[in-house]
Amino acid sequence: MSTRLATVGDCVAVLERAYPPAWAQSWDAVGLAVGDPEAPVSAVLFAVDPTVEVAVEAAGGAQLLVTHHPLFLRGTHGVAETGPGGRVVATLIRAGVALYTAHTNADVADPGVSDALAAAIGLCRVGPLDQGPAQAENSAPTVCRGLGRVGELPEPEPLDRFCARVARALPATAGGVRATGAAAQLVRRVAVCGGSGGELAGAARAAGADVLVTADGRHHHVLDAVGEHPIAVVDVAHWASEWPWLAQAAARLEAGLRTRGRTVSASVSAIVTDPWRLHIPSR
Ligand SMILES: [Zn+2]
Repeated sequence: MSTRLATVGDCVAVLERAYPPAWAQSWDAVGLAVGDPEAPVSAVLFAVDPTVEVAVEAAGGAQLLVTHHPLFLRGTHGVAETGPGGRVVATLIRAGVALYTAHTNADVADPGVSDALAAAIGLCRVGPLDQGPAQAENSAPTVCRGLGRVGELPEPEPLDRFCARVARALPATAGGVRATGAAAQLVRRVAVCGGSGGELAGAARAAGADVLVTADGRHHHVLDAVGEHPIAVVDVAHWASEWPWLAQAAARLEAGLRTRGRTVSASVSAIVTDPWRLHIPSR
């Protein structure tokens, strides 16, 4: 075996410096969920969701699957292949693939999920949304900056053009992009939160944002948010909002291992795990 081959444990060490597990919410389930830390790794696959389809893709050549969402969040009493969770575990173990998750710890990390979303949209002068004190672990390459980011467009543009920009920046989904507000209203300052960030509308407005780009907008929350704050909510698919993070995390894993004299090839799954597949605009 080449001495330069990485192990699952080497990959975990790099990922945990980038996304310290201590930054995860108490309800979250991050870290190594499947696999042997001693096992060698030459190829790593990154995906938002550990679905059966993604596990099958990982089993086709990777030795480590890194996902944003955990496989199990609630108490699990078995991994029989009668349910999707069990099928994922069995598929991975049979193929010798480990599973690692960085979830809410990657949401608050800078660079993290919302930084990748802000970069994809083309924002500049990006900073924290939540003005809490930045937390750095000694010499860690990452800082904890809380949920969401706020930044600026290079030039102000009307909301409809801004929505088209968001649509181009993210992978295609059936639901596309929808927004509250008027097509012609000007967008200059933009708050973003990958995943379900609707509760940040107040913080976004307090940070001077004209729009909040996030996912999973719910009727009452969005109605209340736009009633309380003069802000437009731009709603995208949850999967799409977190997808830009995958390439960022893959690059950081490769770079972190390189500094340790290890090499892996990291790639991003192209499987769309957004569950919505059909969208027929009503008349
Ligand atoms: Zn999410």
